[in-house]
Amino acid sequence: MPERTSAGTTPWPPEFATRYTAEGYWAGRSLGALLGEVAGSDAPCLVDRGLRLSHRELLCRADGAAARLHALGLRPDDRVVLQLPNRWEFLVVTMACLRLGIVPVLALQGHRKQELAAVAGHAEARAIVTAGTVRGFDHEALAHEVAAGSATVEHVLVTADELAAGSLDLRALCRPATGPLPPVPEPDGTAVALFLLSGGTTGAPKLIARTHNDFAYMVRRAAEICGLGPDSTYLAVLPLGHGFPMTAALGTVLAGGRVVLAGSPAPEGAFALIDAERVTMTSLVPAVVQRWLDHRAADRRHDLGSLRLIQVAGSKLPEDVAARVTPVLGGVLQNGYGMGEGLFCLTRPDDPAEVVCRTQGRPISPADELRLVDDRGRPVPDGEPGILLTRGPYTPRGYYRAPEKNAQAFVDGWYNTGDVVRLRPDGNLVVEGREKDVINRGGEKISAEEIETFGRAAGAREAAAVAMPDAELGERICLYVTGTRLELPRLRAAMREAGAATFKLPERLVHVDALPFTAVGKVDKKALRADIAARLAAEQRRAG
Ligand code: AMP
Repeated sequence: MPERTSAGTTPWPPEFATRYTAEGYWAGRSLGALLGEVAGSDAPCLVDRGLRLSHRELLCRADGAAARLHALGLRPDDRVVLQLPNRWEFLVVTMACLRLGIVPVLALQGHRKQELAAVAGHAEARAIVTAGTVRGFDHEALAHEVAAGSATVEHVLVTADELAAGSLDLRALCRPATGPLPPVPEPDGTAVALFLLSGGTTGAPKLIARTHNDFAYMVRRAAEICGLGPDSTYLAVLPLGHGFPMTAALGTVLAGGRVVLAGSPAPEGAFALIDAERVTMTSLVPAVVQRWLDHRAADRRHDLGSLRLIQVAGSKLPEDVAARVTPVLGGVLQNGYGMGEGLFCLTRPDDPAEVVCRTQGRPISPADELRLVDDRGRPVPDGEPGILLTRGPYTPRGYYRAPEKNAQAFVDGWYNTGDVVRLRPDGNLVVEGREKDVINRGGEKISAEEIETFGRAAGAREAAAVAMPDAELGERICLYVTGTRLELPRLRAAMREAGAATFKLPERLVHVDALPFTAVGKVDKKALRADIAARLAAEQRRAG
């Protein structure tokens, strides 16, 4: 029997829970109930290519899906893995889960067998919900492969024009309800609403259990700061499996606004949608901002005049790029910094340009607490950069069923972000770097340790993965190796074979006689990062 979800979580201590409730951060309501309350209108709510649904129609489909999930035997607190592209079914099935108290686990499109099997296993998922073939990859076959190797997955639900044997038809499941919701009690506010995945510092993604109380608060507070309301149209171009765009999409629905789905962040399609749908807000990562800026310089056909807010987070937006956003794309830039683990910082729409371009904003909640420490955990002097620890009403106190990881990542209930930040006197925070061994490839986080394990398994004697600077994605993965002459295509093929996510495949391999070490005997990654930067600069000079 799968364990109850709550058994694997670390609750907030009672004094914090009491305070967050008393001060109004926690509403004690389920997200499903909140979504139900705002859904009475015929105002438009969801646009996906030819499909347009009103708030009432979206809820009706979500409730139809909830009833059919229930008929399949799925019950409140069961976990279901979702691996879906930005299509209407994603929002419908997410809402269906929230309405019924089923806990969706949001996997990323780039995840392959290794991650999906680990996530489904760790969550003891009873179903996988996926698409057919997306960008040439057969997600349906992957889901069946994972299900076959799983002790708990009983159902594979698929949205596709033709279904393979054994798949259940997700589109049929998402038809409008024909009766009332199954009679299940509303989940408690402290129950887990959904799982986000952390790219994190170690191999398999960690599961971040977000409760109804905490996630609903974050979503509604962020929406309030962004000024979302019935007249807002949010364009979802980033994959909704990420907490960042999902927060804005759910916030838009809860605010009575409209969500437009884009299949990819490519500017050609996104600009056409902004123009046609009079989009007012979108969320981007810096790599996408850069593409949009470049594209706009070459192609001014579309009217982007409806854009009011362009939210950017996920990795650091260079100041010079930030300064070009409003002049080139229009709207106000909102700089942000956040994580699936909770804390969300944003600049405010009326902040001066200096704050918006130079900082990553300030916490969205007055109850967010920040502490900056040095590498021995001692507080750093005011204004100095330090490793950021945080706790607050929407930052959980531990990963799901992960006592060992929690012992490292949480210090007395404070989440150690592993990011190095500076706090300005005006309360805004500037991300200066990071202490954790992670590569941030265009917003996707990759554990260096995991890539190194692959490198050694493929024949390297020693391996060290570092970020190499990249104009397009900010960072790409470079692996330093010693020993046998491992070739990059062979390593990538071996990783693919092992079922690693596509975004984890290294893009450069550097052979060295020996790795550099620090005085305490750790691989000197700083030296390696400097080395690869110097190699790239030299190559660029040679290329002319
Ligand atoms: P995720 O949970 O995938 O959103 O990753 C969270 C991590 O992304 C943070 O801990 C940071 O390392 C990084 N991150 C997010 N936003 C920014 C930003 N604006 N600047 C630099 N790093 C960022």
